[in-house]
Amino acid sequence: MEPRSHDFKRRAACAVVDEQLKEALAKAQDGFVGKRAQVVEILPEFEQLREQGKIIGDHVLANLDYYLERYEAAVDKHGGQVHWAETPEDAQNIVRNICKRVDAKRVIKGKSMISEEVALNEALESYGLDVVESDLGEYILQLAKEPPSHIITPAIHKTKAQIAELFYNAHQKLGYDKKLDSVPDLVNEAREVLRSRYLEADVGITGANFLIAETGSNIIVTNEGNGDLSCTLPRVHIVTASIDKVVPTLDDASALLRLLARSATGQEFTSYTTLSTGPRRTADLDGPEEYHVVLVDNGRSKMLADGFREMLRCIRCGACMNHCPVYGAIGGHSYGWVYPGPMGSVLTPYFLGLKEAGDLANACTLNGRCASICPMKIPLPDLLREHRRRQFEAKLAPKIASFALASWGFLAKRPKLYQPLTALGMRMMGMVGRRKGRFRSLPMVGGWTDTRDLPAPQGKTFHMAWRKRRMLTAKTKMGDQSDQGKGSELRVFAFLTIILAPILSVVLVGGYGLFVWMFQLIAGPPIQ
Ligand code: SF4
Repeated sequence: MEPRSHDFKRRAACAVVDEQLKEALAKAQDGFVGKRAQVVEILPEFEQLREQGKIIGDHVLANLDYYLERYEAAVDKHGGQVHWAETPEDAQNIVRNICKRVDAKRVIKGKSMISEEVALNEALESYGLDVVESDLGEYILQLAKEPPSHIITPAIHKTKAQIAELFYNAHQKLGYDKKLDSVPDLVNEAREVLRSRYLEADVGITGANFLIAETGSNIIVTNEGNGDLSCTLPRVHIVTASIDKVVPTLDDASALLRLLARSATGQEFTSYTTLSTGPRRTADLDGPEEYHVVLVDNGRSKMLADGFREMLRCIRCGACMNHCPVYGAIGGHSYGWVYPGPMGSVLTPYFLGLKEAGDLANACTLNGRCASICPMKIPLPDLLREHRRRQFEAKLAPKIASFALASWGFLAKRPKLYQPLTALGMRMMGMVGRRKGRFRSLPMVGGWTDTRDLPAPQGKTFHMAWRKRRMLTAKTKMGDQSDQGKGSELRVFAFLTIILAPILSVVLVGGYGLFVWMFQLIAGPPIQ
């Protein structure tokens, strides 16, 4: 998929006024968030499980080379073959060569984010192979020629009417000439159309939720059973997976599966959890004749040692996007590549570079909700801040932002200057905005005030409020009625306004600019 992350701002601005998208996202997000909360509520050890998940992930990443070799040996022992792909092109070539060798014409695919990452469908189609997605959401998007907008429910943005229209147009040539209007009818029609595609396919390609080093198995979880059919009916099964999917044992995978289903869809367990280990054995009733695993690196080895290691714990549950207010406002397509939401805002700039995708990290409001629910305890806001830091250091941030940030840094390192200046800015803003308690419009923050009011500051900075609080606590303890701190604040204010009157206007503009910049730093860009 051709990256479009450089166009993030424009895409987000269009998405934010798309009423249909807003409705679809609100419905889906509310459903996922509510269901997750319910299943977490009834599992008292959920927090312990999260800690266990983190420990398993960290242990694997610290010993990744060992577990990958162990996994390869186990796959080999069971008659399968592991292929190593350093780049997307390597992965495409490996799959293509397998298909060519077995004279494949048709491929059926289960959902696999890594195959989206390496653009496998496009590559296979360019070699003349007929590729059909078997996951219902992915199938809908294949008909619509669109990329996924969510990693768990790829067609989350599509309405029933849009899907009915797609099916009507695509299935007429197959003898389905009725326009459907109920979900069960649409599902049944897709099932009938896809059933024959499984039987015709020479090669089945699936992803893997986990790769088990001790047994050489791969695990896929689905709610449709399409993964099972894709890996058992065709002659050849190819698993595409990134190197971070390996876990030491089946017990470890069980712990992670408990986290995955609850975090992803709010289920205690997904409907189908399928383990595949090698090709069909003599006594097996079904299964492929050949079993291949394509292990993709694509920058992950570098990530291990580059400050973003924690992101490799991700189990692709999608919970961070379900809980993200920015994703909820703009949907997945705005992010312009394979991975949307908070996890995508970390991964995409890493894989594609800050020049292409730097804006994604800046869209975050840093509210921390994603990190608080991530089953693998990934500190997503910290990683996003790290992207911002690198962007600033590489001078890739917009000039005005870099200048403002540098100015802020200069002041913040000089508290004697910073505190009175911000106090002055806050007081003036507080005074001007006191009557309504909000601003309808303000210079330099039109992006916000075009679509919402800006709350007026109370007139105090954090430092002032903190000082006052400490004084009150001390007073309560000592019975001291004096209020020196307040007096000193007033003296600073009087000094600045009376003695420095000639430069007051300059200071006001500076204070206001500082406030605006700090507000944007804290609140992120104007997305509703
Ligand atoms: S970052 Fe965490 S919440 Fe987001 S998809 Fe990965 S595991 Fe799930």
